Amino acid sequence: GEITKINTKFIDIDANEMVHQIHSDTVVSTKTHSFHLEMGENYKIKGDETLLQQAIRALIENAAKYSEPHTNIYIKSAIKDGFGQISIRDEGIGISDEDAKRIFDRFYRVDLSRTKATGGTGLGLAIVKRIVEIHNGRIKINSKMDKGTEISIVLPIGETLEKTEEENIKNVKKEKSERRKAV
Ligand code: ATP
Repeated sequence: GEITKINTKFIDIDANEMVHQIHSDTVVSTKTHSFHLEMGENYKIKGDETLLQQAIRALIENAAKYSEPHTNIYIKSAIKDGFGQISIRDEGIGISDEDAKRIFDRFYRVDLSRTKATGGTGLGLAIVKRIVEIHNGRIKINSKMDKGTEISIVLPIGETLEKTEEENIKNVKKEKSERRKAV
């Protein structure tokens, strides 16, 4: 069956700006882990920012839920093989290859003895998958038992946003002249 229809509003999103914002919010809201931000070349995504944020936050929540307090969580945005890639990596309990095939199914939760300490419905990743599909993207998972997990959202790129040296100089000049005007 389908998850309840999701209404979307597509706009141009600055990927690094969005990921940067999520990292800042997470650092403020979640004191149990050490969050690291890794930024590659910037790019644009055509998408629904609220939904993408929801998906990324769900991955971050899982990373924190399935790893020991005070371990590292890496939040990364980069261009890889021509696609935008937003990855969340933890140093937690990991997921077996067998479970990795199923964790995006609705209500699927790995062995209850491992997860009973944490609440959850098993719906989080199914929603993440749905959101990524809406954006014509896919999910990549890389995990090793007792070592950690990396889950990546791979999305088509609108265009790259790397500012050229020329543009940077132009922007500084513009800013200066605007400041002068404001005085
Ligand atoms: P919720 O719906 O509240 O998110 P949940 O965490 O059980 O509950 P999902 O987010 O869909 O549901 O995750 C499904 C299962 O995948 C989890 O129960 C957990 O066993 C496993 N899992 C998800 N993320 C990780 C992770 N980073 N490391 C290890 N296991 C994970």
